[in-house]
Amino acid sequence: MKRTNSRKMSLKILWALVACFLIGGSQPAAAKVKVVATIADLGSLVQVVGGDDVEVTVLCPGEMDPHFLPAKPSLARKLGRADMLVYNGMELEVGWLPLLIRKARNPAIRPGAAGEVDCSEAVTARLEVPTGHLDRGEGDVHPEGNPHYTLDPRQAVLVAHHLARRLGEIDVDNAASYKQRAATFAQDVEERTVSWRAETAVVAEMPVIIYHRTWAYLVDFLQLDVMGEIEHRPGISPSPRHVQKLIEEGRQRENLLVISATWDHHHVSAEVAERSGGQTVVLPAQAGAGGGAQGYLEHIDGICRDLAAAGKARP
Ligand SMILES: [Zn+2]
Repeated sequence: MKRTNSRKMSLKILWALVACFLIGGSQPAAAKVKVVATIADLGSLVQVVGGDDVEVTVLCPGEMDPHFLPAKPSLARKLGRADMLVYNGMELEVGWLPLLIRKARNPAIRPGAAGEVDCSEAVTARLEVPTGHLDRGEGDVHPEGNPHYTLDPRQAVLVAHHLARRLGEIDVDNAASYKQRAATFAQDVEERTVSWRAETAVVAEMPVIIYHRTWAYLVDFLQLDVMGEIEHRPGISPSPRHVQKLIEEGRQRENLLVISATWDHHHVSAEVAERSGGQTVVLPAQAGAGGGAQGYLEHIDGICRDLAAAGKARP
């Protein structure tokens, strides 16, 4: 009996101590803005701009193809807890994001809400915007143009400024910090662009075949010379006839380089390169695609390094 009483007493003291700590203890840290980004590149950009003021979760890890992410309930739960959703738009996530948003039932990130951020709104130079009639039989053709703009660092800078503006709207106290971090990132990109272009200058002289149009923006940024695509229609496996035609065209050119992403069908790239006397390079199409966490700048650094190595090793 006595024992129970003393246990009750010590519990009371413990609760009193907890209450004291909660009420009068050290000042709790300001709550971070919980941001969910759809793809790793955008997750990295939010982290750069948000710094310690945000907590970032990425739905599609860098090593997975963002065209085809399974819409798992665990992802909807992550969205359910978010203050802000940051997505690529231009239909890149059309196969899974609308479903996840519906399942999440989170008013903060619903279309039109302050926490819903479509980064493609910041993109000034959209590539491959179709003109005239759009035929879905032509493959994964997006009516708003090629959605892989994060691979152009110039567009990434515009996205960073856009994120700073939108974060500043829902977290006014830190608006100046967001703006400052975006400006620093813009400066970093400007400085590194000089070395990225110098490093890959050797590749700019090589004829290039790309697997999917993932690389369109990178190619535009580095001014590479693209002579063809393995995916005749985006998102659809190439026909043997198309592959044969590419090989024949490739044979006419020297120093051919075939670029594919970590998730593409490399045996086709390898076949085209081998039979036309060229070489292949497999590049990470999203930050961290090679495994592990990685920032945006390091991601572009890695791509340029791999391209430069392929340029030096040309047959
Ligand atoms: Zn695509």
